[in-house]
Amino acid sequence: MGRAEALIALRQALSAVPDLELFTEPAELQRHSRDAFEYSPVLTPQLQSCRAELVVRPKTVKAVERLASACADHQVPLTLRGTGTGNYGQCVPLHGGVVMLTAALRQIRSFDAATGVVTVEPGCVMRDLDQELRRHGRQLRLMPSTWRSATIGGFIAGGSGGIGSSRWGFLRDPGHLLGMEVVPLRPNAQCRQIDEIEAEALNHAYGTNGIITALSLATAPAVHWHQVSVDCDRWEQAIELMQRIAASAVDLHLATLLEQPLLARLPTWAGPVVSAHRLLLLVAPDGLTSLQRMAQSAGGTLRDLGPEDLSCAHGLRELSWNHTTLHVRASEPGWTYLQMLLPQPELPAMAALKQRWGDALIWHLELVRQQGCARLAALPLVRWQGEEQLCRLMHDCKAAGAVLFNPHVITVEDGGLGVVDADQVAAKHHFDPAGLLNPGKLRGWDERL
Ligand code: FAD
Repeated sequence: MGRAEALIALRQALSAVPDLELFTEPAELQRHSRDAFEYSPVLTPQLQSCRAELVVRPKTVKAVERLASACADHQVPLTLRGTGTGNYGQCVPLHGGVVMLTAALRQIRSFDAATGVVTVEPGCVMRDLDQELRRHGRQLRLMPSTWRSATIGGFIAGGSGGIGSSRWGFLRDPGHLLGMEVVPLRPNAQCRQIDEIEAEALNHAYGTNGIITALSLATAPAVHWHQVSVDCDRWEQAIELMQRIAASAVDLHLATLLEQPLLARLPTWAGPVVSAHRLLLLVAPDGLTSLQRMAQSAGGTLRDLGPEDLSCAHGLRELSWNHTTLHVRASEPGWTYLQMLLPQPELPAMAALKQRWGDALIWHLELVRQQGCARLAALPLVRWQGEEQLCRLMHDCKAAGAVLFNPHVITVEDGGLGVVDADQVAAKHHFDPAGLLNPGKLRGWDERL
């Protein structure tokens, strides 16, 4: 049977499935075939013409099982989609087929008051999940700067870290993800509960090796974070202060450092444009006076911006992580970005890169915990001067000792450390033996023969 016939038969089978909405309008197919890949001028031409042939929205796990079985029966690819805020075409259907929206699977199934562990369906938006956790005195440990719209399933399958990484490291660190419910893509598919060891292989696998229908996460005690900015005239002074704060006992949820040329490229609500570099901090209220003392002794100018208002979308969170790229590109689309872990000591490497690349490179740093140690990650803005120049810059960053996480590639491996994770491939053998889930995104699977 050809693909066209297979799709007709699949559509017919799916139209009989209860609690499954089908969308076939060209505008819907187009809208649900994109994510934020336009941040990469390398990926845009590769991905912009990819289209789903059918979009579906299941409301129950039973409907997901029927969908997975039907896709297996008719050998049609299935790509999962949360809100579609991923940056690397993670939920773009490279080979067409069906796109499944997770938005209607959004229940918080359980919360354990004794441990703080929450079990939630993948389509739950992180803002809603965090709000609910706060009613119980807890909060999410980690979230992306897109937390107001992005789903928890999309974060686990596609994200890596973000707000909270200064303390809690990265999503794949043991202790965050404690288990999952997964639907395999097989005939007569039935959901299965898997423990945290087995779930590791589905964490940051772009939905290539199982359909997550629920996940259990550890949470943190809730803190009403306070917003602070510190302006520093010299870059070295700002880095030194950031590192002193990281080494202190002050409880931090975010520490973002923006090089001065970024300030003029941020929205007006981001604060005054000055001739200094700006450190943005979310700090526990009991750390405020210590922070003031450290900023003063470093010669920085501190502004107390008050307690965070989580109902307002114009907070420091929306100036951190990839939101800086979003803001810069809103007015100057000729910029793109890179992601890396800086080598230690950071200053000489950054100075050498700056000297070579001048104003085509603007530093944006984030404090992170990497394998238990405070480190500086960078998401520098990069002026687009063509692919060859970008490759040269990436080469220079690696030569300076940085660990690069290339945001201009489509596979799980190439966006990470470049190596195939045998457990991810083994999980795909188990949960997707025909290779129909988000095909083209797991290099280890495509190279297995
Ligand atoms: P989607 O983009 O819809 O999907 C992401 C991946 O998850 C896809 O591969 C998809 O197939 C898979 N997936 C979705 N649901 C399931 C499921 N149920 N089962 C299996 N696989 C599934 N990322 C960060 O890590 N940290 C940041 O700070 C950050 N900041 C960002 C800022 C901006 C401005 C932008 C545009 C992006 C940012 N991102 C960041 C990337 C992205 O926003 C996050 O990773 C977000 O959590 C993705 O959620 P989503 O619902 O949009 O997922």
